[in-house]
Formats: sequence, C-alpha cells, structure tokens
Amino acid sequence: MSLYGEYDPQNIFAQIIRGDAPCYKLYEDDDVLAFLDLFPQSRGHTLVIPKKAQARNLLEIDADSLSKMILTVQKLTRVLVDELQPDGVQVAQFNGAPAGQTVFHIHMHIIPRYAGEGLGIHAASKAEAAELEALQARIVARLNG
Ligand code: AMP
Repeated sequence: MSLYGEYDPQNIFAQIIRGDAPCYKLYEDDDVLAFLDLFPQSRGHTLVIPKKAQARNLLEIDADSLSKMILTVQKLTRVLVDELQPDGVQVAQFNGAPAGQTVFHIHMHIIPRYAGEGLGIHAASKAEAAELEALQARIVARLNG
C-alpha cells in the first residue's frame, strides 16, 4: 500500500472500532480508542487510533481528530510510565508500507523502552493472551485510579 489510495472500511482497526473484532482496550471516548498491540515490540506497547476519521495516514487526517489522538497519546504515555516504570518511551507513527505501515487506519504507537532490552520485531510475534490481560488490568486500574 502506498501513501495514496482508498480507505478500506474492512481494515482490522475499523473492525475493532465497530466492535466486530476484539481488542485489549485500555481507554475509549467518543473520538479515540487505545488498546494493547497484539504483537508488542515491548511490554506495554499501546496503539491509539481516532474513531471518526476515515484516514489512512497523517496526510489524510483532519486537525480535530489528530489533536484528540495526540492528546490521548500523552495521557496514555503518562499512565504507562506510572504503571510500568520504563526507562524511556518511543512514540511512533508510520505512513505507507515502505515506511513500515501495515494497518491502513492511522494510529500512533506508544512503545515503553526498558534499559538493556532491545526492541522486538515490528508486528511479528503474538503475545500470550494471559500476559495481555494482566497488563490490560494493571493499566486500566492505573488509568481509573
Ligand atoms: P503499523 O505497522 O504502524 O501499521 O502498525 C500496526 C500495528 O498493529 C502493529 O504493531 C501490529 O502488531 C498491530 N496489530 C495488528 N493487528 C492487530 C490487532 N488485531 N490488535 C492489536 N494490534 C494489532
């Protein structure tokens, strides 16, 4: 998929927004959804997506959805840092397949980084359900605490 093209309403994140596919949800409001990455590159790897924008990438998203997404990224980053105590946090966003994008509904990655631990391979190995459930419970409790 290049930078240009049609938005596919059957993409996996659109299915998650509609409730047609499951996710390990961390936070949701009218505009934004945050959930754990199923193929995490580190412990606590989180994705934040806009719900209303049918945008594949940064070039297409409207300013309102973009603002709400980045504000939620900051909110979740604070919660992840409080709960997981990483030594650093990477925030990333890819546009187009050559840049590493694999799901064509715009999203931002929050990737906690731990000293001495390398970065896992992108979108490669699925985490154990029990591990994701435990992380989800911790992060949601911290968010609501
Ligand atoms: P990108 O490569 O930037 O498009 O990122 C897409 C991300 O979505 C990757 O990190 C994948 O591991 C992740 N991913 C793919 N399918 C799912 C899913 N069903 N639930 C959660 N994360 C997913």
